Amino acid sequence: MPYAVVDMTLFDARQRPLRDLRISVTDRCNFRCTYCMPKEIFGPDHAFLQRDELLSYEEITRLARIFVSQGIEKIRLTGGEPLVRRDLPALIEQLRTIPGLQDLTLTTNGSLLRQQAKRLKEAGLQRITVSLDALDDATFKRMNDVGVPVATVLDGIEAAREAGLWPIKVNAVVERGVNDAGMVDLARHFKGTGVILRFIEFMDVGTTNGWKLDRVVPLREMADRINADLPIEPAEANYRGEVAKRWRYLDGSGEIGFISSISQPFCGDCTLARLSPEGELFTCLFAARGHDFRSRLRDGSSDDDLAAYLASVWRVRDDRYSEMRTAETNAAAARVEMSHIGG
Ligand code: SAM
Ligand code: SF4
Ligand code: SF4
Repeated sequence: MPYAVVDMTLFDARQRPLRDLRISVTDRCNFRCTYCMPKEIFGPDHAFLQRDELLSYEEITRLARIFVSQGIEKIRLTGGEPLVRRDLPALIEQLRTIPGLQDLTLTTNGSLLRQQAKRLKEAGLQRITVSLDALDDATFKRMNDVGVPVATVLDGIEAAREAGLWPIKVNAVVERGVNDAGMVDLARHFKGTGVILRFIEFMDVGTTNGWKLDRVVPLREMADRINADLPIEPAEANYRGEVAKRWRYLDGSGEIGFISSISQPFCGDCTLARLSPEGELFTCLFAARGHDFRSRLRDGSSDDDLAAYLASVWRVRDDRYSEMRTAETNAAAARVEMSHIGG
């Protein structure tokens, strides 16, 4: 008699399943993007995590296996810059053996891809996302703030393609007055190449990047500006919880995406958990605190204990920060308008 398939999916307090896990393997980076790790804060005196504070690859893999048994289908490695952690392919080799894991990918700034793409592919990485905010060298150097030229990242993307890491996505954070003037150039560069470019609204993550609402270029405006030169139309989402809104070029030359966490938040479909380099699980990008898995990994807890702890964290998850922020900014806008009309 066939066995019944047991669905281990965990649902949170808002009925959102746990499907995606983003694992940050390091808090270090060889860039100092002004919107992410501004130099004034992440300078020579900044206290990065020490080696023994980081989860080992064995610890990460053990947790990942437990998480997959609880419904995670997709894992993305990130950071900091994941390719600065020593021998990352060794982690990929371990993760790829996890039964039930359907998708394993990585987000990188691309600067070390030429050296590592082939080895990453051989280790079992399937596809990759590369961040590139501008095609103009001066703008890009100003944004990464360590003088890395555009050509290095483009060459890294080429190396990924040659190695067979595919599909390739490219992420560009758009900040008004910084790189928004180059959006169409970026779109034109990748149009028709099969590489999927996604523009990301500048987000108020952390407390250090000097975020202001007026620096955000909302999806609607980004789409209008691309459409004026390169006509596009909205396309259907591939699946529930897809972070990027998909649009396609009217001439059939491919698609482009927008990640609109500010103007059109997607908390209602957010199926993502984030594991920090030191083993804290965050149920929201904006959560003030994480849930400590490292001490449980190191105090002899069994796999069942860890799975039970994960379930206890996810089942009460109620986060929807971006939706609440939007409600607030809308309310603020409404107040401004009311005072304007004398209310
Ligand atoms: N270092 C890798 C990279 O840059 O691709 C991986 C880590 S990085 C934190 C992951 C993604 O977050 C990148 O695509 C980056 O552009 C994006 N990001 C960082 N700070 C952001 C912000 N304030 N608003 C929007 N996206 C941001
Ligand atoms: Fe580093 Fe990525 Fe942040 Fe830039 S966005 S500072 S590359 S972690
Ligand atoms: Fe998910 Fe939090 Fe972002 Fe909303 S704000 S989409 S809950 S990570």
